[in-house]
Amino acid sequence: MFILEGVSKRFGGLQALHPLTLTLAKGTTTVLIGPSGCGKSTLLRLLNGLSRPDTGRVLFDGQPLPTGEDALLAVRQRVGYALQGGGLFPHLTGAQNVTLMARHLRWPEARIRERQGVLMDLTRFPADALERFPGQLSGGQRQRVALMRALMLDPDVLLLDEPLGALDPLVRHDLQADLRGIFERLKKTVVLVTHDLAEAAWLGDSIVLMRDGQVVQQGTLDDLESRPVDAFVTRFIQAQR
Ligand code: ATP
Ligand code: MG
Repeated sequence: MFILEGVSKRFGGLQALHPLTLTLAKGTTTVLIGPSGCGKSTLLRLLNGLSRPDTGRVLFDGQPLPTGEDALLAVRQRVGYALQGGGLFPHLTGAQNVTLMARHLRWPEARIRERQGVLMDLTRFPADALERFPGQLSGGQRQRVALMRALMLDPDVLLLDEPLGALDPLVRHDLQADLRGIFERLKKTVVLVTHDLAEAAWLGDSIVLMRDGQVVQQGTLDDLESRPVDAFVTRFIQAQR
């Protein structure tokens, strides 16, 4: 679904991503994991063209990501994105956040309502809570609203930046289980960021372990455990036991 070829990204004097090459297979869940600041969010933003690489290119469905704003908008309708922290607009209700893009695209009201109902069922979200503002929702509810917003246009790809961050263990456990069920049902291409290796193994078909703007190793947890490419992989795994 995505092929990154020699993609790199620099912010001033900081090389956030060194030239890296990576394939993210269609219909699978890939989990990006690694220490804070290693470039996970930077990589995710390159996938929907929110940010452009300094070198290399990103192929989406075999085509380089377009540069024109109109063409990029079309891509973004196929690539749902939930920002780190949810990224909800605080002055809009949950429902308004979820339906924003559909309204922008002038979907008929009946279609918006129908899709909203499907998403509430899928994420097990109560209708009355959707009328509240993000500040009046729990952390877990906010993450579910962000997930619904990312799914609103029924995209082919779902980019989720730490959808389970900053949640208490029980809420996190519930949402983990729900996410896995949703991924299995929808069969979309998912790219998810987390700090938690057990979560990566539970949710991901493939784990991409990053460090200092580089991909250290891609594989299953078993690959990383039984065939670590270097001592960092082993240390990273042992630190999470
Ligand atoms: P975390 O796990 O804490 O979310 P991350 O792996 O997502 O970290 P990134 O947000 O991708 O890390 O950041 C990678 C590096 O690039 C960091 O050093 C960060 O400070 C820097 N960086 C990211 N975005 C920008 C920006 N817009 N301008 C300047 N530096 C940036
Ligand atoms: Mg991040």
